[in-house]
Amino acid sequence: MNTYLTNEEHEAFRTKIRDFAEKEIRPIASMLDQEAKFPTEQFKMLAEMGVMGAPWPKEYGGMGLDYLSFAIMVEELSRVDAGVGVTMAVHILSQSPIFFYGTEAQKQKYLPQMTSGKKIGAFVLTEQNSGSDASKMETTADRDGDFYVLNGTKIFITNAPHAEIYIVVALTNPDLGPRGASAFIVEKGWEGFSIADPYDKMGIRSSHTCELNFNNVRVPKENMLGREGEGFRVFMSALDGGRIGIGAQSLGIAQGAYEEAVTYSKDRVQFGKPIAFNQAISFKLADMATKIRCSRLLVYSAAMLRDAGKPYGMEASMAKMHSSDIANQVCNDALQIHGGSGYMKGMHVERAYRDAKITTIYEGTNEIQRVVMSGFIVGKPPKEQSAAKTVKKAPGSATGIRKQMILTEGTIEEKVAKLVESLKADGYDFTTGLDPQTPIPQADRVVCVGKGIGDKENLELIEKLAYQAGAAIGSTRPVAESLRYLPINRYIGMSGQKFTNNLYIAVGVSGAGQHLKGIKKASTIVAINNNANAPIFKNCDYGIVGDLAEIVPLLIRALDNGEPKREVEQPKKIKRAVPKKLPPTYKIHVCNGCAYEYDQSLGDSESDIMEGTPFAMLPYEWICPECGEDKNQFISN
Ligand SMILES: Cc1cc2nc3c(=O)[nH]c(=O)nc-3n(C[C@H](O)[C@H](O)[C@H](O)COP(=O)(O)OP(=O)(O)OC[C@H]3O[C@@H](n4cnc5c(N)ncnc54)[C@H](O)[C@@H]3O)c2cc1C
Repeated sequence: MNTYLTNEEHEAFRTKIRDFAEKEIRPIASMLDQEAKFPTEQFKMLAEMGVMGAPWPKEYGGMGLDYLSFAIMVEELSRVDAGVGVTMAVHILSQSPIFFYGTEAQKQKYLPQMTSGKKIGAFVLTEQNSGSDASKMETTADRDGDFYVLNGTKIFITNAPHAEIYIVVALTNPDLGPRGASAFIVEKGWEGFSIADPYDKMGIRSSHTCELNFNNVRVPKENMLGREGEGFRVFMSALDGGRIGIGAQSLGIAQGAYEEAVTYSKDRVQFGKPIAFNQAISFKLADMATKIRCSRLLVYSAAMLRDAGKPYGMEASMAKMHSSDIANQVCNDALQIHGGSGYMKGMHVERAYRDAKITTIYEGTNEIQRVVMSGFIVGKPPKEQSAAKTVKKAPGSATGIRKQMILTEGTIEEKVAKLVESLKADGYDFTTGLDPQTPIPQADRVVCVGKGIGDKENLELIEKLAYQAGAAIGSTRPVAESLRYLPINRYIGMSGQKFTNNLYIAVGVSGAGQHLKGIKKASTIVAINNNANAPIFKNCDYGIVGDLAEIVPLLIRALDNGEPKREVEQPKKIKRAVPKKLPPTYKIHVCNGCAYEYDQSLGDSESDIMEGTPFAMLPYEWICPECGEDKNQFISN
């Protein structure tokens, strides 16, 4: 590669990675994409090559290379398969907090396992209500003796099913918001830690992305990374380096698509000459080459700043934003140059076109990169222009406020009887019926079946329950898409059908975030599942934990009034659970001078005091925003 920023060692390393990618990845890249398959064997080979911890010192099993070499590695892998590129980029990203914030004991314990490639890493930040605004995380880590107990759900986590070491951020002091966040090393297999099925993605399909659930996961206190309250900083600083990785991934995608376009355009003859010799095509190629060169210089120079120990946050954002925008433009042009052939599955440019899109989204969308850069350029906004306050949702519930009445008292029969009694008290009439094939958006009630149903024969039970409950039948995505028990138009979730009407009975449904988004407007959610830790229980109005083969027949019997069901008249919308206004768990402080009440859930934006700041943490010089009285003139009640 002809660039004055690299030296011979860099180029020798590039050749080594390129040879590997051409020989071991290119022949299977299309298959990996079409089957959404993770290249396990190929990662074992990369581990044998010793590159899985390339930028970390040899004493921890790394290669002691610079960050520019890391960028070159991700670029070269992504040139052939961007899914392989991001798997590597995130694996290295997850080692970074251990290297920079870990104790010597943590580095000795975890880095060699990761740098050797024996264990893959994942970087666990994003949540349902905490995407671009990472400070709004809700996952908690409560201290209990020598442990922290993690509870919450993280979404969109790259490498999740293949990783064994997870760098996780959670709130150790929720009252302080991001200043109360801490980072932890969590290992696969710890009790209460579960990984959902991989999402079905548009691109980078050889990389797997999943939701993670933490249900009372006990993490030894020695596994905290950095100090308590330092977690947000640990994560944000790692992301600066990560953005160079995504810039390099984007660069590789663009380079791969560009090379295909050059070759194809010199080969494809129309009007008696190769299409490359039409100025419309050759100018496109010239523009593509220029854009790629700009990307390369940006990515490499950001990496070089980091290697030189200089500030590089803004340059990393520039590199990520520019290269990912360019990757999308270049892939679009490369596909156009291929004409109809480029639109066909199995063509490199078709895959690159889909793969490129994610690069403008993850590790901070390109809008957020502009927020980061403008922060460097113009500083913080003046107080009057700070963002409007957002409405807080109940933490941990993707379906909003729910009754969360998990029926635990008595026998299964008694629990079922209590459930039916409660539903009737809410206004449900079970003498009415509904065609089970009613389209989901029009159905007043739905019985939804999840993977917990087991064999397909068990659907018979669900059909009977749907009949007695006066409901249509729906399913989760895996039941329709992977198991194919029901047609695809019956799956409910963010990307499927939405259920916004009255009664939703989830049988054997674990409650992945994608699914919950499709039912958040349901009036009443009932959950039946044998896993007490399934997220659906945090999102339901009524729940019974237990074997569905035992519960469902009892429920069918309890709903059966012995008569054929009447046709439904226009069903009434049943009122949802009303949020209880909980008294604050903290004291309100009242100004002695003017009776102004300082409420820590609101903070004091005028004085730059963030929401969630306890009164005790207010700076000494803080004064009453109403009358200017000193802080020590406040009394608590
Ligand atoms: C395939 C994949 C892999 C991922 N891997 C990981 C991973 O390994 N670990 C991890 O923690 N996360 C991961 N993520 C999550 C990813 O980082 C987030 O999806 C991303 O940060 C955006 O968050 P969001 O999806 O919640 O979008 P939102 O934050 O809801 O944003 C939606 C839109 O609003 C725009 N927007 C939001 N705020 C502003 C603003 N202030 N100004 C202007 N525009 C704004 C955004 O730019 C975007 O266009 C992954 C995501 C995907 C899809």
